[in-house]
This record gives sequence, structure tokens and C-alpha cells, in this order.
Amino acid sequence: MRRNLLLVDDEQNIQSAMRRVLKQDGYNIYCADSGKDALDLLARHKIHVIISDQRMPGMTGSELFGEVSRRFPEIIRIVLSGYADFSAVADAINQGAIYKFLTKPWDDALLRRDVTEAFRRYELSWRNRQLTEVFNSTTEGVMITDSEGIIQTVNPAFSTITGYSEAEAVGQTPRLLRSDREHPECYQEIWTSLVMQGQWHGELWNRRKNGEDYPQWMTISTLPDGDGGQGRYVALFIDVTEQKEREARIEYQAYHDALTGLPNRRLFHDRLGEALAHAGRNGDLPSVLFIDLDRFKIINDTLGHDVGDQLLQAVAQRLNKIIRKEDTLARLGGDEFTVLLSRVGRQQDAEKILRKLTASFRQPFEIDGESLHITLSIGAALFPGDGESPAQLMKNADTAMYRAKEAGRNGFCFYSQSMNTNAKRQLMLESDLHQALARSELTPFYQAQQDLQQGTVSGVEVLLRWQHPQRGCVMPGEFIALAEDNGLIIPIGNWVLKQACQQARAWLDAGCNDFTVAVNLSARQLQQPDLAKQVQQTLDTIGLPARHLELEITESLLLNDTEQNIALLHRLHDLGIRLALDDFGTGYSSLSYLKKFPFDLLKIDQSFVRGLPDNQEDAAIVDSIITMGHKLGMKVIAEGVETNEQSAFLRWLGCDQVQGYLIGRPLPAAQVEELLFQGSHCE
Ligand code: C2E
Ligand code: MG
Ligand code: MG
Repeated sequence: MRRNLLLVDDEQNIQSAMRRVLKQDGYNIYCADSGKDALDLLARHKIHVIISDQRMPGMTGSELFGEVSRRFPEIIRIVLSGYADFSAVADAINQGAIYKFLTKPWDDALLRRDVTEAFRRYELSWRNRQLTEVFNSTTEGVMITDSEGIIQTVNPAFSTITGYSEAEAVGQTPRLLRSDREHPECYQEIWTSLVMQGQWHGELWNRRKNGEDYPQWMTISTLPDGDGGQGRYVALFIDVTEQKEREARIEYQAYHDALTGLPNRRLFHDRLGEALAHAGRNGDLPSVLFIDLDRFKIINDTLGHDVGDQLLQAVAQRLNKIIRKEDTLARLGGDEFTVLLSRVGRQQDAEKILRKLTASFRQPFEIDGESLHITLSIGAALFPGDGESPAQLMKNADTAMYRAKEAGRNGFCFYSQSMNTNAKRQLMLESDLHQALARSELTPFYQAQQDLQQGTVSGVEVLLRWQHPQRGCVMPGEFIALAEDNGLIIPIGNWVLKQACQQARAWLDAGCNDFTVAVNLSARQLQQPDLAKQVQQTLDTIGLPARHLELEITESLLLNDTEQNIALLHRLHDLGIRLALDDFGTGYSSLSYLKKFPFDLLKIDQSFVRGLPDNQEDAAIVDSIITMGHKLGMKVIAEGVETNEQSAFLRWLGCDQVQGYLIGRPLPAAQVEELLFQGSHCE
């Protein structure tokens, strides 16, 4: 630090004499001739020590120092004057305006010593001021106790953090701040550490005056030289509530899914690992369910991500209601969820829960004013038979889930060893499917439909076949779902439609004129907003009148009654195309739902036909579907008719058409022609 000294004297020779003496000590010396000069200088320069004469014209030394002590109290002030002046400055000395009175003539060595002392004093009080400022302004709470632990001093931050004012704290012991959260041993530990090491630091829960507990990071040190040689303690602490909350938030985010608030993959893995470590203790064996929403992507793409997100949240809530508290439901991402059933020993127990889970999705979800139907495919893997590690159980549950999807979705499946080979087969099939169209491996087959009134073949349904170079004939049940998932269904569907229309045109040209060709449309194809335009263009290019084309749409839960879907089907219908609702009875169509769509035809699913005519339930269902269809102005066709009894019974019930092996199997165009041309409508 530079040491700045100001000399004030009206006599030049005294100024220079003093200057000469003090210069040796390296001070930075300023001089003034009067009190007024001195005040001007002080306003411009940082001065640490002033030596002033008492007797000066205008302003005396004590008057000057009165002013200086008001305006610059930190400056050390020395009067250098004759003995005769002592009584004149005594008052100022008593008021503290003057630090020292030195007499003229001076002794050089004494003067130098006193000035050195004055600078030391300045530094000391400067340091003190700094420390006080730190003590008062720091955000760390400070508490100093005596050797008995009685609080002596606290700083403002102490009061801010704890809520206790200085007056309330001083005289108390730190027990004032105790919460119930710490064990008594914890305080014992602090004490031992203070005695042994003279210090303790760590985290401690304390209680504020308002009763609130809070965590603080604290350092306690022993100060050896207290009053009477006794040790004192000083405690420094900061409130770490916010930091803790931030940590907790980060930890939560690291282990939870942001959208649904469910545990994420990481937490699921941890819990599964833990469950496996304790497995079998009470005969409880954990199992893993892998859940995937069926065709969620379509909803996301058609209704927007916002609706998709809301649906995922609603799904999470619904699933969470079904599983027990000790089980874990997690979201892995996208539309994939997993469940850890911690206490399921036998397959039957798991099955109960699986049934509950799938049943809970019968009710539609109400999102954004839309009523959305969605289904689940679930795979289950049980410990230890289906895997002994978290990774293995997850992988096998996933494989089982894919099997559930292949089996037609909306169901569940338990893992079995053979699935791994199957899963591989599926993977390879998928990569082959990409080339199937280009390599002309796909062929449309045609299955005849018979009119029960006329007894003649009135139309055909196009059913796709895939002639795989190594595997031979692959059925649509194996590859349509794959194509839907990877989007290939769009080019494949377009191709089938063109083929069917060209074939129909060829039959018209050959003289057959009263028939329809039914083409299956996948829900994924309905997503294309310009589908009606595309279909019309195909019809126009090929020159096929629309009345010869029928489009079959599966009664999947996906055909939600959204404005978009309803409008699209109306547009197709307005073109003159007939619309059929395929696999009727397997979905959840309600009457009001049916009324909104312009279907011309209901196709009763073959699962109801199989039991005819003996199975009473099937008979009742089929009977009521036919009656209902007719009431709504639709024709009804039954699928999967294999026997004469079935056909006769359906005719008796008033069914309009039948389709099935009894009439004919799906055949290549050339072979189905024979059946088609037998009809009276052909020339
Ligand atoms: P679908 O539209 O309900 O077709 C009827 C299915 O029942 C066909 O199976 C057919 O071969 C079979 N079937 C017909 N008569 C009988 C019978 O008397 N008994 C038995 N047990 N089965 C009978 P396929 O050809 O394996 O097709 C399965 C499904 O694949 C079809 O169900 C359809 O949803 C889908 N599919 C087939 N071709 C296409 C296509 O070109 N595009 C789309 N999107 N889906 C297609
Ligand atoms: Mg069909
Ligand atoms: Mg069908």
C-alpha cells in the first residue's frame, strides 16, 4: 500500500524541514499552507495520516481536524505545535478529533517513530473495517460462541437464514437451531471432531425460527485464544436448500420420463436389478411386461404430436391405476412401456394382470374432444425361466410383445424359447420385403364372393400373396403388419389397387359386366389426405367405372371416428366406390359410430362363422349383425364359409353374400375367371 502523508503548516521552512526528515521513510508527502488548502487536497487525494500546525491564519489545526474527523474519520490526525498551544487543542483531543499531540521543536527520531506508529494504526483500523464489512455483508451465516457454547455474536446473514435476530440469539446455545432430523450421535460426532481436530464440517439439518427445517453446509472451528485464554468456536454456514432442490430435480429428471412423470429406462433397470437380487425370498418371482401401443404412430401422424402426447399421458395414468403399488410402470420412450411385476410367481397370476391391462383399453380415451380407441400388445417374461438378468428379461419380453403384434395385436403373449428363431425370421422377412415389389414377387390372388339370392358369384376379393425366393408362399398375415409398421404398405397398397383395377378392366373387356373387385385398404393408407384423388386417378387412367370397385376397411380400433376419417370415406363413397367394413365384430364399433361412415357392406368376421350353425352364441351374434346391418341400410356378407350347412344357415338368416373355401379358395386371376364367368351376368 502507498503511504500518503499530508503536512499542513503556514511556515514554508517548517514544512520543508519536516519533509526532509520524513522523506527517508519513503512516504508520499503532500503539503498545504492552510486548513482550506488541506481540505481541497483531501477532496482530491487519498490521505492516510495528517500532521498539522495548530496556529495558522484562517483555520486552526484543531478546527481543521474537527472537519476532517467528520468527513474523513479514518485518517489519523497529529497536531505538531508549541507547548503553549496544548490547552487550545485539549478539547479536540478529548473528542477524538486528534490522535496525537507532538511538540515543536521536534526530535527527528521521535517524530519518525510516531509517524510510523500512526501509519500502523491506520492499517490496523483499515483491516478491522474490512473484516467488519465482510462479517456484515457475507451471505454465509456466522455464529461465534464462547468455550461453554454460549452464542456471543452473530452476523446479519445468520439472522436472514435462521430468522433469529442478533438479540434473540446472543446468550443462547446453538441448540436453539436443532431440528429433529439429526440423530443425537450426529452432535456427538461433531463434538468429538472439534476436540480431536479442532474442526468439523459437513451437512446438518437445522430449524428456522418459523419451524421450517432446512439443510445447511457448515464449518465449525475452534479459536484458541478467547477471553481468559479459553477457546471459542466459530461456525460458518450456508443454506443449501436450493442446491438440494436442484440436485433432487436433476436426479428426478435423470430417472424419470419428462412427459408422463413415470420412471424411465434407467430407473426401471435399477428396480428390476434390485427385484432380481431379492427374488424368491418369499416365493415371489418378478416378471417383466413389455407394452407397445398398437399403431400409435398413425394417431401421432394424423392428429398431431400434441394429441399423441396427451394420449401417452392418459395411457400412463390408466396403466398406473391397474398395477399395484409395489410394481413399477416405466416409459422407455415413444409408445413403449414396461411393467415390473414384483410379486408374480406363476403364469396364471401374470395372466390376470395382463387381462386387466388389455381390458382397461376397451374404453376409449377422450382427448381434445376426440374419442380415441387404441389397443395394446403386451409381451411377458417370467423370472427365472425366461431370463435371469434384467437385460435378458427385457429382451425376451420385447420378443414376446412382437409375437403378440404378429398374432393380430390387441393381446398379450408369454415368451417362449422358440420365439427367438421367429424373431430372426421376422427381421429377415422385413428386409426382403423391401425388394419384393421391385422383384415382382407379389401376386394378387382373387377369392370369389357368392350372392346367396342368385346363387352366383357376384365379385372377388383381392388377397395378396408373396412368392418368396427361399421360403415359398408367404401369407399376408405374416407380412402385412410388417409393411404397415415400416410404411411399405403405401407403395404395396397402391400397386395392389392398380393390379386389381386392371384385372377388373380386363374382365369387363372379356364380357363380364356385373361384378365387383374388393381391395383391402390398410388404416395406414387412409392417412394419405389425397387418397380419394389417387383412387380416382387410377380409375380414370385404367378406365374402370367406380361401381366395380369395392374397398374393404378393417374394423380396427384405428378407424377412429375423426372428422378427417369420416370426410375421407365420404369422398371415396361419392366417387361411386362401394365401401365394406371388414372383420366386423372383432373391434368395438358402436351403432352411432357405424352411422357416421358411409359403409355399403358389413363383412362378418370368420370367427363368428366357424361355429355355425350349432354354436348358439355365434348364431345369435351373426343373426343380430345381419338384422342390424339391414336396418342401417347395408348389405351383409359372411367370411370364412367352409360348409354347406354354414351357407344354408346364413341364407336362412337373410345374409346377402358369402365368401369362403366352400365357394373357392383365393386363386390366381386366370383360375378365378372360371367361377366369375359362370354367373348369369356374364355373356
Ligand atoms: P381379410 O380381408 O379378412 O381376408 C380374409 C382372409 O380369410 C384371407 O386370408 C382368406 O384367405 C381367408 N379365408 C377366406 N376364406 C376362408 C375360409 O373359408 N376359411 C378360412 N380359414 N380362411 C378363409 P389371407 O389371404 O391370409 O389374408 C389375411 C388378411 O390379410 C386379410 O384379411 C387382409 O386383412 C389382409 N390382406 C390381404 N391382402 C391384402 C392387401 O392387399 N392389402 C391389405 N391392406 N391387406 C391385405
Ligand atoms: Mg378383406
Ligand atoms: Mg376379413
